[in-house]
Amino acid sequence: MNVLPKMLFLFQTLQIVDRVECFGKWQKDISKFVWQGKKPRIKFKILTDSKERGGFALPDLRLYYEAAAFCWMKDWLLLENTDVLDLEGFDNAFGWHAYLWYDKVKAHKMFKNHIVRKAIFMVWTKYKDLLENKTPRWLSPAEAKAWKKPNMEVGWPKYGEILEKVGENWRLQSYEKLKNKVQNWFHYAQIQEVFKLDKKVGFQVEKSKLETELLEPKTKVLSRMYNLLLKWNTQDETVKSAMIKWAQDIGYNIMFEDWERLWTTGMKFTARNALKENIMKMIYRWYMTPVKLAKIYHLSDNKCWKCKEAEGTFFHLWWTCPKVKVFWEMIHNELKKVLKYTFPKKPEAFLLGIDGQKVLKNDRTFYMYATTAARILIAKYWKTQDLPTLEEWQTQLMDYMQLAEMTGRIRDLGEETIEEDWRKFKDYLQKYFKLYEC
Ligand SMILES: [Zn+2]
Repeated sequence: MNVLPKMLFLFQTLQIVDRVECFGKWQKDISKFVWQGKKPRIKFKILTDSKERGGFALPDLRLYYEAAAFCWMKDWLLLENTDVLDLEGFDNAFGWHAYLWYDKVKAHKMFKNHIVRKAIFMVWTKYKDLLENKTPRWLSPAEAKAWKKPNMEVGWPKYGEILEKVGENWRLQSYEKLKNKVQNWFHYAQIQEVFKLDKKVGFQVEKSKLETELLEPKTKVLSRMYNLLLKWNTQDETVKSAMIKWAQDIGYNIMFEDWERLWTTGMKFTARNALKENIMKMIYRWYMTPVKLAKIYHLSDNKCWKCKEAEGTFFHLWWTCPKVKVFWEMIHNELKKVLKYTFPKKPEAFLLGIDGQKVLKNDRTFYMYATTAARILIAKYWKTQDLPTLEEWQTQLMDYMQLAEMTGRIRDLGEETIEEDWRKFKDYLQKYFKLYEC
């Protein structure tokens, strides 16, 4: 994260990464650092996806570079900043929009002989169809068809302003109406020709994402564009693979809303990284298993470390192994005593903290601490035959609740709530474990 501001400065000031291969190399270096030279266990796309969608929000330098290119491109699309347009397009043979939308780069190859223009244009070609699949509202056929003059004019009429709807059809406004916006009658006739062709593609009626995220906002354009590009680049991929594996294991689909709730509110129960990390590791099935090890090292033995009988798959070790089952049964009973009501003993409830909202809202934080503590202890005994004891779990849980939650809350909340929290906290400890006096 420390590198990011420096890289952003670079991308924003010097928009000329000509060969995109360097991003692959930089990503490799970052990956080497993140995984400390070991083989990556989580896909790069998942690492870089936003936290709301279940990613780790590691910055993707290539996307930042591309987002910065869009910030530069903004002037070309809006046609307002004539100083920049004159400077960057001093030897253009056509209007800017002729290059961007009407393929004039093919007719005038010199356009790409300019180092800045080339770099930005490459990014535009990559995303053009994704961003605008119909004729855009910001497009100005008038500028595209205008006689190219050394100095840019302002106030080019855009499709968003010069069309009118007649019945179900869009048509170009009459010459009378557009008289002040076009150069002359011949110019109008040219626009009409272009309009006929554009009509075949269809017109964008609502504001596009490019408009709302890049063209309209005055601030935070870089991060808006980054998030937009990120969405496209990680779509589908993100949690899909992890979600599918979990569904295969437990035998049914976890509702998408439940996953979503886990990434958004479910992860926020604690400020402690060790606990968040455990949930992420569970979602992405990070833990090494006898089956995986056997595959990697060509071993003949892939049996479970606990029961030494069944195949040691991820789901067996965490849930179906008879020995682990006994442990979870114990935790389930203990939690029922604590909560004073019952809830289903489902794998997703204990392994991911997705309880299907069977745990009451006020008990959720406690519930997340309780199940996460159990998993962290299982992980502690991961490659051994052993499993944590009830006492170990209780102590661990108290440590977490006391250290993480209390210090976190005292910082976050006002004084009034501290008393209340202390009372609740002591309640938990005294009522449920009867181990603690304070
Ligand atoms: Zn087993």
